[in-house]
Amino acid sequence: MALQFYPVKVSHIKRLTEAAVAISFDIPEELKQVFAYLPGQYITIRLNINGQTVNRAYSLCSSPNSDNTLTIGVKQTEHGLVSTYLNQCLQAGDSVELMAPNGNFKVDINSNAISSYVLIAGGSGITPLLSITKSVLQFQEDAKILLIYGNRDASSIMFFEDLELLKKTYPDRFTLIHILEYTDGENKGILSQELLETVLADSFKSSNHYYLCGPNQVMNNAEAVLHMHNIDGSYIHREYFTAPTPQSDEQDVSIESSDFTIHVKLYGKEYDIVVESQESILEAGIKNNIDPPYACQIAACCTCRAKLRSGKVHMESREALTDDEIEEGYILTCQAHPLTSDVFVDYDG
Ligand SMILES: Cc1cc2nc3c(=O)[nH]c(=O)nc-3n(C[C@H](O)[C@H](O)[C@H](O)COP(=O)(O)OP(=O)(O)OC[C@H]3O[C@@H](n4cnc5c(N)ncnc54)[C@H](O)[C@@H]3O)c2cc1C
Repeated sequence: MALQFYPVKVSHIKRLTEAAVAISFDIPEELKQVFAYLPGQYITIRLNINGQTVNRAYSLCSSPNSDNTLTIGVKQTEHGLVSTYLNQCLQAGDSVELMAPNGNFKVDINSNAISSYVLIAGGSGITPLLSITKSVLQFQEDAKILLIYGNRDASSIMFFEDLELLKKTYPDRFTLIHILEYTDGENKGILSQELLETVLADSFKSSNHYYLCGPNQVMNNAEAVLHMHNIDGSYIHREYFTAPTPQSDEQDVSIESSDFTIHVKLYGKEYDIVVESQESILEAGIKNNIDPPYACQIAACCTCRAKLRSGKVHMESREALTDDEIEEGYILTCQAHPLTSDVFVDYDG
């Protein structure tokens, strides 16, 4: 079942910077199909740290087409529970629990006719874009990539050597521009709107696809600049690692809330659970010990996605869902509050 967690062994850990590691997992032969993924997607990891069970999403930086292991790149966040554990405590040979890859930030190199990509990354946001870069360069022979990668300084660049190797291997098809806040060299600065205007100067083309991943400010700056150049929204792809800034029409929505008993289907079983006022459907599921799937709890990933079979819900944010998924009735249970008493949420759907 795609939603379940599978025990998987850590095969290798490589230090990338003082505060970031690449962690590779050995996927057993019988699980290879379950863990198939597209470049850009993420996995959900479940750990028990000091008696607390925690789930987090991490984008895969490996290429599904050419790398044998599944690899993630984790940057240690200040006071961050899981990222600190993964950077400081996890060892090769340890077993962790992983859920199958997921996510709508992806490139299907087999069916995609995209010939020109502009990728904008900040810090650890390089991870899904590295996967996309490797796969596209290797398997879409005519496609070109421009990668703008912002970091604090040279020592904080994740995957520096991998990127250099790609530059050497594909000099005509891969352009890499490092932007550093602290440097004596060129391209000094942060990924502000002004700087993006300058580095993207000849790259505002309606045929390009733009993939953005990094801190919210970087994403907002990039999007603002792309909109100013009339780039169609369907050509702009975003992956948030932290809570996305709400769209203006989603702000300050206050809802009348009260307790509702809802019906839930999960892993083939059915439950009636009470969702108290102000509680999300996911929170109620966790409280009732039905073990619902989740990772970020901030609408950035879609691990907690489920189908709304009946009733009405209010969603605070829906960033990780595509328009088609919303149309088909999918909801993010971490953001959803019941509005009617006939709510039926089907995780298996
Ligand atoms: C779809 C998706 C893909 C992701 N991929 C990656 C990845 O490839 N590499 C990676 O390193 N992280 C990635 N993340 C972020 C990751 O899931 C965790 O949120 C991050 O590692 C922090 O978890 P933590 O338990 O260490 O921090 P927590 O204990 O949850 O938080 C500690 C503090 O850090 C803040 N914080 C949390 N996350 C961040 C962040 N990313 N940047 C700055 N401050 C933060 C919180 O607000 C809090 O104040 C991804 C998130 C999503 C939703």
